Amino acid sequence: MIHCRADLANVRRVVVKIGSSLLADAESGIRQGVVDHLVDELAGLIVAGKQVVVVTSGSVALGRVRLGWVDRKLSVHEKQAAAAIGQPKLMYAYARAFARHDMSVAQMLLTKDDLRHRRRYLNTSNTSETLFSVGVVPIVNENDTVVVSEIKFGDNDSLGALVSLVVDADLVVMLTDVPGLYDRNPGAHKDAKRIDIIPHLNDEHIAMADDTGSSFGTGGMASKLAAARVATRGGVAAAIISGKEKGTLTRLLAGEDEGTLFLCGVDRQSKRQHWITEVLHSAGEIHIDTGAARALLEQGSSLLPVGVTAVEGVFDKGDCVEIVAPNGVIAKGLCNYTAEEMRLIMGHASSDIEAILGFHDFSSVIHRDNLVLIQKKTL
Ligand code: GLU
Repeated sequence: MIHCRADLANVRRVVVKIGSSLLADAESGIRQGVVDHLVDELAGLIVAGKQVVVVTSGSVALGRVRLGWVDRKLSVHEKQAAAAIGQPKLMYAYARAFARHDMSVAQMLLTKDDLRHRRRYLNTSNTSETLFSVGVVPIVNENDTVVVSEIKFGDNDSLGALVSLVVDADLVVMLTDVPGLYDRNPGAHKDAKRIDIIPHLNDEHIAMADDTGSSFGTGGMASKLAAARVATRGGVAAAIISGKEKGTLTRLLAGEDEGTLFLCGVDRQSKRQHWITEVLHSAGEIHIDTGAARALLEQGSSLLPVGVTAVEGVFDKGDCVEIVAPNGVIAKGLCNYTAEEMRLIMGHASSDIEAILGFHDFSSVIHRDNLVLIQKKTL
């Protein structure tokens, strides 16, 4: 666990997210020189005994350049086609750069939907473990050609954060075109200061990035903070550093004062809780009364059918649903019964379940172990 900068020297497994703006050029396509110098640093870390996963953007940008579609807005299908064209170019650039160090790369293309299925999540994790064991560097990108917005990560910052959880990394580093997070917009304020460490990333920090519109004057800081929150909640430290200057990653991992470091705060969740809150889609809603809400919030109880007042949506056993108290959503959890069964037993005592359904699998409709409070609203 990382508690301070000095602990970064002990990082064993690190996810490094590299953005399109660093890698791709509107005129010439891939900036092989940039890829080479980044890979030189990554290879140095690997030789020093660290395991590295690269999460890279750039496929759409490289495809655009190849097709001459640089300055126009693309439809979803055009973007997907551009990604299909750019992805092999991107991989070729990494393969060439790592080959200079006698190292091989492997391509892993993921969608958010893949990580929603427990089995595919585990397969992804097992594949990366196997790649580490044979000393090959996993290079991850979103599988853009098959995704539509509902199953998209949205951006590669959040892909990087989720990958850091899947591969059980100690740290996720986001390389960008600014030296870290600033206390105010560095473009507008000469005295803006880089924030060294954020021990607990909270709503205020996120709002700071939103307030200034484009993240203190630079693109994408809001999505980086959202990704840092996902990672740190899941137990993985995060860092934002510049990818423009050479050596920043090596300095960060030597414990030196580089970029902004985000530590895991008090809201740290278990992997399972994190999977429920951050990865799973809600298939429906279970509305509950004040008594049940109090039992969940104050006593850490499971949700019983007697406290359920309404059920919305169509869902199966094991699906994820939102739990809605009279004053709003308070939790997410995995159901023990289908929506149809839930409608029949709602408002009844658990002892009546067998008489109503003809079977009794569980006394609770959502067991405490499968339930995560997402907002501690007062009643
Ligand atoms: N997956 C996209 C690409 O490789 C980039 C998405 C992003 O950077 O947020 O072009």
